[in-house]
Amino acid sequence: MAASTSSPALKSGSREQFIGGAMVASATTEALEVVDPATGERIAEVAAGSRADIDAAVAAARDCFQKRTWRGRTAHDKAQAIWTLGERIAAHADEFAELEVRDNGMPLAFAKATIASLVNGVRYYAGMVTKLHGQTAELSGNGRELHAYTTPEPVGVVGAITPWNAPLGVLVNKIAPAIAAGCSIVCKPAEQTPLSALRLGQLLSEWKLFPDGLINIVNGFGHVAGAAIAEHPHVDKITFTGSTEVGKKLIHAAAGNLKRLTLELGGKSPVFIFNDADLDKAIAAASMAIFANSGQVCFAGSRLYIQREIFDRVVSGVAKAGAAMRLGSGLDPQTQLGPLISKEQLSRVLAYIESGISEGAELVGGGQRFGDTGYFVAPTVFANRENKRIRISEEEIFGPVVTAMPFAGMDDLEALANATPYGLGSGIFSSNLSTAHRAAKLIRAGNVWINCYGILDKAMPFGGFKESGWGREAGLEGIAPFLETKSVYAML
Ligand code: NAP
Repeated sequence: MAASTSSPALKSGSREQFIGGAMVASATTEALEVVDPATGERIAEVAAGSRADIDAAVAAARDCFQKRTWRGRTAHDKAQAIWTLGERIAAHADEFAELEVRDNGMPLAFAKATIASLVNGVRYYAGMVTKLHGQTAELSGNGRELHAYTTPEPVGVVGAITPWNAPLGVLVNKIAPAIAAGCSIVCKPAEQTPLSALRLGQLLSEWKLFPDGLINIVNGFGHVAGAAIAEHPHVDKITFTGSTEVGKKLIHAAAGNLKRLTLELGGKSPVFIFNDADLDKAIAAASMAIFANSGQVCFAGSRLYIQREIFDRVVSGVAKAGAAMRLGSGLDPQTQLGPLISKEQLSRVLAYIESGISEGAELVGGGQRFGDTGYFVAPTVFANRENKRIRISEEEIFGPVVTAMPFAGMDDLEALANATPYGLGSGIFSSNLSTAHRAAKLIRAGNVWINCYGILDKAMPFGGFKESGWGREAGLEGIAPFLETKSVYAML
């Protein structure tokens, strides 16, 4: 097993927040208990930020924005500073990866991949700073007397509220485009996983890459610090990743000053395997689609539709792949599947498994807690042969639990794919590209993977249809939510 990190973020009793460019004492004595989900042991304590902390962070962010200490810099200066941020994070990749493992439980290789990916995202948005531009138009009316153009301008102070399933990755994916657009930002990471964000704040205070107040990080509870950001009259925009339930609350909370909102929410993503698919590859990909990060992935392929002729073969293949996976501490390089995030999540996932059994689904593999230390659940496969409308086929479980169901072919694919309120991910496995692309057109989801699953590239927009969200992150579109468009008319 790899040695555990000696990162300063693990120092128990850290009561500081990153506000106004420095680590400062939190306004509260309340603490978040940080638990290693592989053992259930408390590993650190972090300040649980209060409304006063959020007020201070928003004031610092607003001051930076008003004084133009960042947005007034040249594009080249900003691009250089953001690129350097990526390089500095990359230089601390091992430390950040270990913190993610201790905090979230994910396997080390998965954590390293998320850090590498977020560094790519930072580089991508560093490159975009010098490519922001407006347009001129052939005016539809008084073109001869007028010259008109648009300019992109930063939306202002951004509040970023993030979940625990890919803590640093999701956070930095919001920071990079926000500051590339010229905004300043106040971040509230998930209460279960504050350590990588705390460490990022500590390092930012040493690196001094950005003006004070451009980036602020306040750890705390969602109903306190998160709600304070959502309601704050001096926050112009919220960028949120989390559950659909909290996303809906934010819509109400943001109404006070009509904050702009980007929402990356939940999913119940379908994977379709056609008869003519390369079954070995499809089974391997469908297994990882649900079991990766123990199913705690917003686009996890949790509804597996298989054509009837190959149903039994695929179901037993996925169950076999799950049974062969090695569960354990994410710090052990042999581990393929880590624990769930918390005791609550363990109970929730076990309750879903119970509901699957009691509602008549056939349990084909897994179906129970793994071990009695930590919060592990064995990779679980249900067969719902009659396509019954049961909870495990319709609700987001956020655990390593897949429900396999039969489908006839192109005729019922559209209805089945779009049968939930979500529309985030989807997968299609077929060796006939015409079939695959036709199916891709029928699915109402923000992401479709053909003969693969879950690949993300920073140049491609990511987001959801329907109740899976509003707006897009990544790609050219990912910066748009942080910009306003100004139209300027000049009389000639
Ligand atoms: P969550 O319960 O919605 O929490 C997300 C964040 O919102 C946390 O920081 C949370 O704080 C905060 N929060 C909770 N209540 C709040 C309130 N009233 N006002 C303001 N903020 C509040 O989600 P989660 O359990 O952390 O994450 C799992 C969910 O995220 C799943 O549904 C998953 O599908 C979704 N997700 C979506 C994407 C995507 O890109 N579409 C990516 C990852 C995850 P606390 O930590 O204190 O609760």
